[in-house]
Amino acid sequence: MSLIVQKFGGTSVGSIERIRSVAARAIAAQQQGHQVVVTVSAMAGETNRLVALVEGIIERYNKREYDVVVAAGEQVSIGLLAIAIEAMGARARSYLGWQVRFLTDSVYSKARIQEIEGFRIRDDLEKGYIVVIAGFQGVDEKGDITTLGRGGSDTSAVALAAALEADRCDIYTDVDGVYTSDPRIVSSARRLARISYDEMLEMASLGAKVLQTRSVELAKKYKVPLRVLSSLEEGEGTLLTEEDELMEKVVVSAITHNRDEAKITILGVPDRPGVAATIFSALADATINVDMIIQNISESGETDVTFTVPRGDYQHALEVLAIPVKQIGAKEVVGNRTIAKVSAVGVGMRSHTGVAQRMFNALAADGINIQMISTSEIKISVILDEKYMELAVRTLHDAFELDKDAGDRVIAK
Ligand code: ASP
Ligand code: MG
Repeated sequence: MSLIVQKFGGTSVGSIERIRSVAARAIAAQQQGHQVVVTVSAMAGETNRLVALVEGIIERYNKREYDVVVAAGEQVSIGLLAIAIEAMGARARSYLGWQVRFLTDSVYSKARIQEIEGFRIRDDLEKGYIVVIAGFQGVDEKGDITTLGRGGSDTSAVALAAALEADRCDIYTDVDGVYTSDPRIVSSARRLARISYDEMLEMASLGAKVLQTRSVELAKKYKVPLRVLSSLEEGEGTLLTEEDELMEKVVVSAITHNRDEAKITILGVPDRPGVAATIFSALADATINVDMIIQNISESGETDVTFTVPRGDYQHALEVLAIPVKQIGAKEVVGNRTIAKVSAVGVGMRSHTGVAQRMFNALAADGINIQMISTSEIKISVILDEKYMELAVRTLHDAFELDKDAGDRVIAK
């Protein structure tokens, strides 16, 4: 008998009516002969409401107590779902994280799962129950409640699928799959039938917010076949899986964009050991995440260093840099927060040349200036003026013919 883990996000359990349709889906899967475990988030908006209550008391709150509060949303949704399933004539049991022991570390508000004790769940499944599990939460060694970070119920579902050696993990959400680009920007964007774990990881870190990144890392590590599909309409969704031959032959699978960055340049940085360490230690100490970094070679004994930070941290970063910049004797700090990052992602880049050329030519043809470039094995990102972002995304989507079926874009070897 096969075992399926289904996960439903906040929108999918946002009302009693929606909860009833989740119940119907779980029952349908059971009637098809599967054992069914369902993981759910809190009802839409509920976690935000709980976070706001905490933040309304004090800015720097105790994270242990924060977890006690924000984990509460899922307690309601699992109970309601179990009741809805039983109301439709099937049998269901709900569990909180600590009851089936999602054992985590003690990093409150962003804990990591270490182990799941699956025996109670397996027992119930054998007896014919649909098992409903609270996403987003766990318990640490001391018995304290922990949460996994916002969006964490994706990770709960994948960890559960890995622990139970499920045949599949289906993530139901409010989009019907992963797209070649944001359909709100590119009208010809297509749903991808399949995408590799590595591509999805790049896309997640580049700002495509379909799945919590950690869940994709886990799916990759434990080779969990993961499907993203809509809870609102029927469809095949997108399957996340290991790379296959077709993926390697299409060069670029998706164009992503991210508006959430700002650029900072330190001018006239003296060319000697330790300067980069001084600059970036100051940012790290302030827990500001640096993304791209560019430093030119110096001809004259000094150089410029440019990097990007999350836009929300821009002002803070400028303040933090004042002292180290003086210390190292750099000339000036300048910045720009109206930039955007546009990226081409595809595992085919590993084995094909000419991708950067095609990308830069396409942008040049539209008169779009590139401010920064960075690459990984399967990604090329450019920073450009925010006002050209949408144009750049469309241009690149065209240039790599992403409106065509993957089979028609195969590059002959
Ligand atoms: N309810 C949690 C949140 O809103 C977890 C999740 O939805 O995945 O972040
Ligand atoms: Mg989510």
